[in-house]
Amino acid sequence: MAPAQNPISSKHVAVIGAGASGLIAARELHREGHTVVVFEREKQVGGLWIYSPKSESDPLGLDPTRPIVHSSVYESLRTNLPRECMGFRDFPFVPCVDDFSRDSRRYPSHREVLAYLQDFAREFKIEEMVRFETEVVRVEPVDGKWRVRSKNSDDLSEDEIFDAVVVCSGHYTEPYVAHIPGIKSWPGKQIHSHNYRVPGPFKNEVVVVIGNFASGADISRDVAKVAKEVHIASRGSEASTYEKLSVPTNNLWIHSEIETACDDGSIVFKNGKAVHADTVVYCTGYKYKFPFLETNGYMSIDDNRVEPLYKHVFPPALAPGLSFVGLPGMGIQLVMFEIQSKWVAAVLSGRVTLPAPEKMMEDLIASYAMLEALGIPKRHTHKLGKIQSNYLDWVAEECGCQLVEPWRTQLVDRGYGRLVSNPENYRDEWDDDDLIKEAYEDFASKKLISFLPSYFPKSGR
Ligand code: FAD
Repeated sequence: MAPAQNPISSKHVAVIGAGASGLIAARELHREGHTVVVFEREKQVGGLWIYSPKSESDPLGLDPTRPIVHSSVYESLRTNLPRECMGFRDFPFVPCVDDFSRDSRRYPSHREVLAYLQDFAREFKIEEMVRFETEVVRVEPVDGKWRVRSKNSDDLSEDEIFDAVVVCSGHYTEPYVAHIPGIKSWPGKQIHSHNYRVPGPFKNEVVVVIGNFASGADISRDVAKVAKEVHIASRGSEASTYEKLSVPTNNLWIHSEIETACDDGSIVFKNGKAVHADTVVYCTGYKYKFPFLETNGYMSIDDNRVEPLYKHVFPPALAPGLSFVGLPGMGIQLVMFEIQSKWVAAVLSGRVTLPAPEKMMEDLIASYAMLEALGIPKRHTHKLGKIQSNYLDWVAEECGCQLVEPWRTQLVDRGYGRLVSNPENYRDEWDDDDLIKEAYEDFASKKLISFLPSYFPKSGR
């Protein structure tokens, strides 16, 4: 941990967003002695996990004037990580054994995640810090502080001054639409997974789903329940890939990526196969966007790299007044938000110091050079993948908090391994009871659960 040079002080902090990252940021800031105002444009906490049957008017999300629907959750969504590694560390995401209305599965539905986040907010009285239905429309530095302009549900604007702003606004709302040669003159329908909700509209259609990771694997199988045929275009696969998948609906194929789309309605894959498709569904990810942020050009987003950001959290010249929680995607999410929030809170109070801005820039430039040397494209700057645990250990050590438990990282790795090898049933068939047992014993030893650790979901239940 870098030694503190300043006396511990309390700051007035604005948090933007009351999803998982904003909730834990508010809690950690409050715990450190700061006063906190959370701005949330929705009526409730939970962010992404607030399912809405509504989707946006532009199914590809390209029209900048479209009214935004924040959530990207589809009706059938279940978590893609096992619950025991997902939750915040002193509030584990375990089944509510005495409430039968709740989903006790190891990979529960989106409704259970929302209920968990609401429980967390209630337990730690976070809602008291939240201004609901209040959207932040502008954030800018003024004389060493930060001016936050917000707009409430009556369209009334207010300017307030804060010592610091923590951005927790999420990054699964602005679709990234992969380019397909020839798509402009292709006559079919196109939709991004952000606007996918239920399979009904695809009844009897031939559908091409682009992308084969968590959302692509799920949505292709969901659509296959009603569609005539579903063809997955998978970028990670060899050019010759062409395989009929063994699924109960018997109508699902996997191909290599798309070569071109043609004006006669066909989609041609790199494996040479062509299908006459009605709809293309893009499960191709999201773009970072912070429309409210005004930094006089200091910060920018280039090819999905938010820069400059020291360790994905602090923009050197604007730190510690401006910070971001939750930018890196994939892997352990909530615990990452927790550790980043502890770091932000400790730096703001002066308990931990950051290096000088020029040192942070040097570190950043070296890390960008490293990505380039490894051939990692700029757009994957915030995808930590295998190095996430090193990153989290670094941040945890910096702010003097507990490192990530090895069982947690192993649960994530084994879970993703199953997702890739068994996308049909990875949520209901597993072989890591040893790790679940370790997790529940850990919760019990810390007195975080009220039931015996031997009560954990066993494989096949
Ligand atoms: P969000 O949940 O998006 O919250 C951001 C909040 O900020 C929202 O409430 C929004 O209304 C508010 N906001 C935004 N802009 C403004 C503004 N200008 N003013 C006021 N408020 C604003 N993670 C897992 O751990 N397990 C999973 O199984 C899992 N499944 C996922 C499935 C899908 C389809 C997706 C897209 C992601 C999944 N994730 C999963 C990752 C998930 O995004 C994180 O777990 C987490 O919920 C993100 O929280 P967040 O607070 O960063 O963002």
